[in-house]
Amino acid sequence: MNSSRNSAQDKKIVIAIDGFSSGGKSTFARMLAARLGYIFIDTGAMYRAVTLYGIEHGAIRNGVPDRERLNPRRQASDIYVNGECVEEKIRGIEVSAAVSSVSSIPEVRRKLVALQQRMGKDKGVVMDGRDIGTVVFPDAELKLFMTADPKVRAVRRYEELRARGDDVSLEEIERNIRARDRADQEREVSPLRMAPDAVVLNNSDMTLAQQMEWIEPILEEKIRGI
Ligand code: C5P
Repeated sequence: MNSSRNSAQDKKIVIAIDGFSSGGKSTFARMLAARLGYIFIDTGAMYRAVTLYGIEHGAIRNGVPDRERLNPRRQASDIYVNGECVEEKIRGIEVSAAVSSVSSIPEVRRKLVALQQRMGKDKGVVMDGRDIGTVVFPDAELKLFMTADPKVRAVRRYEELRARGDDVSLEEIERNIRARDRADQEREVSPLRMAPDAVVLNNSDMTLAQQMEWIEPILEEKIRGI
């Protein structure tokens, strides 16, 4: 695909990307959005931001959230406005360990899903998460379900965290990834499921460049109707 992407015959679509933890969704989604001139929305960061707020305000103790105090009616917009400042912190192991409990609270999901739907109402977005193709945008024109071997995902996350100086072990990361996979699939509200019309991308043995190449004909078909 070339830089003439936004030509008259192109139509703006919603691209929903779901899948397991640390499967490379955000990196891929960000690159795809840049390529298309679309807005990239990392919904995991929204759940992480609420979680960080809870940790820092004593509303999560020993990984157990206080549902009432985390009701985002009062707090979510502040957290999100400040999202940029907490970018580092929300990726750390402390937030990762608690985020699946926070994201299973119905009031939190209701509020964040509504914000996500508002952000994507004019289309031209690439949104990644766990329930984007099933709940947030069930009518998205393109749905991807990304997956990779849990060991591959753990090594990727480990290298990412070590590179920024976090003192974590590979075992700890792998345990966290498997626990989040389980919690995300088993929760009652909006569990992680593959939408029946999603296209599967298993990127265990693929570079980012190979993934971009793979998506090209699919984009052509969806956006230009070729
Ligand atoms: O994508 P990321 O790993 O940053 O997401 C962190 C956590 O946020 C997930 O493990 C999941 O519990 C929750 N999440 C969710 N729904 C989304 C995005 C993330 O429940 N749409």
